[in-house]
Amino acid sequence: MADNFKTIKCPACQKEMKKIFIPSEGINIDVCLDGCGGIYFDNREYKCFDEQHEDIEKLVSALEGKEFEKVDESLPRTCPVCGARMVKNYASIKKEVQIDECYACGGKFLDHGELTKIRSQYKTEADRSADTMAYLYDTVGVKLKALDAEREKLARERSFLKRFFDTLVGMDSKI
Ligand SMILES: [Zn+2]
Ligand SMILES: [Zn+2]
Repeated sequence: MADNFKTIKCPACQKEMKKIFIPSEGINIDVCLDGCGGIYFDNREYKCFDEQHEDIEKLVSALEGKEFEKVDESLPRTCPVCGARMVKNYASIKKEVQIDECYACGGKFLDHGELTKIRSQYKTEADRSADTMAYLYDTVGVKLKALDAEREKLARERSFLKRFFDTLVGMDSKI
C-alpha cells in the first residue's frame, strides 16, 4: 500500500493517529501521539527505519519526553488500513521484539519503544542479513546432520541385511 493520507485509528488504543512527515524519506508515518505512542508503517515505510543508520530524528523528537497510555501488547490487533487481523511476529531472528504485521496489506504496528529496540539490534541491512544467514546455516546445518545420521543408519541396516542375505545364499549353495 502506498503512503496514505487518510487518518487511521491506532490498532492498540483506538485513538486517531497523527501523521509525521519524514523529509529524508519523503513519507508520512502514522504515530499514536495522543494515545499509546505506537507507530504504524506501511510495507514500504518500515524498511526505511529499522536500522540504526537510518534517520528517525523526526519520529524520536515527536515521541520524546511524552507519557503514553499503557496498552496490553499481547492483545490481537486489527489492521487500521485494511481491517485484516494482524499477526504477531518477531521483528528479527534475534527474537527479542514482537511486532504486529498485516499479511493482507503489509502494514506493521510497533508499540511504543519497540522501534528503538529493533534499531539497536542491527546497524545495517548487511548485519541483519549476516545474522539471518548464520541462523539459516545453523538451522539447516542441524537438519543436514540429522539427515546424515539417518543415512548412516540406513546404510548400516542395508549392509547388515546384505551380509545376512549373503550368508543365506552361502548356506544355500553349500546345501
Ligand atoms: Zn495508540
Ligand atoms: Zn492491512
